[in-house]
Amino acid sequence: MRFSRLKLAGFKSFVDPTDLVIAEGLTGVVGPNGCGKSNLLEALRWVMGENRPTAMRGGGMEDVIFAGASSRPARNFAEVTLTIDNSDRLAPAGFNDQDQLEIVRRITRDVGSAYKANGKDVRARDIQMLFADAATGSTSPALVRQGQISELINAKPKARRRILEDAAGIAGLYQRRHEAELK
Ligand code: ATP
Ligand code: MG
Repeated sequence: MRFSRLKLAGFKSFVDPTDLVIAEGLTGVVGPNGCGKSNLLEALRWVMGENRPTAMRGGGMEDVIFAGASSRPARNFAEVTLTIDNSDRLAPAGFNDQDQLEIVRRITRDVGSAYKANGKDVRARDIQMLFADAATGSTSPALVRQGQISELINAKPKARRRILEDAAGIAGLYQRRHEAELK
């Protein structure tokens, strides 16, 4: 599985539809302060199911919707589409029926979030589990926030173990065990 495209509309500062092709190899995003580099990373985290407003540098989940600027009115919804090249057919079961996997998350004011996988409605949990099983996802150690390295150095052993477990791809198992215990 490989991320191949990220599309944004109405998400934070990306008010106009933006289509980013992620080529093979290393991709660098450069630009002046405040141009939206971190917002792009947050869009990636968000479409993978991030639900903590703090991880999105906001007070509430609707803060990801374009809030308006002097010359532009606010938007009513934000949408992010992540396209995954699945020609290696390594996507987890249930998502592995096509060479390409397209995940869409849309948030509408006063309505909340809805997700689609290849056009079909899915639950937030399905998307979170998909990426947890693929050892990526919104909390993945592959996504390093500004300031996260110093947090890692100062982390307590338990928190550091959690990071290693995420990297090893077993975070999804813990979530399933927790749910099984609740039943
Ligand atoms: P730096 O180099 O300082 O890290 P950056 O390129 O990472 O900057 P971001 O933090 O991604 O920049 O973008 C910040 C910009 O996004 C600010 O101008 C902020 O006003 C804008 N922004 C954030 N949320 C919204 C929103 N909901 N609506 C409109 N604009 C927003
Ligand atoms: Mg930044």
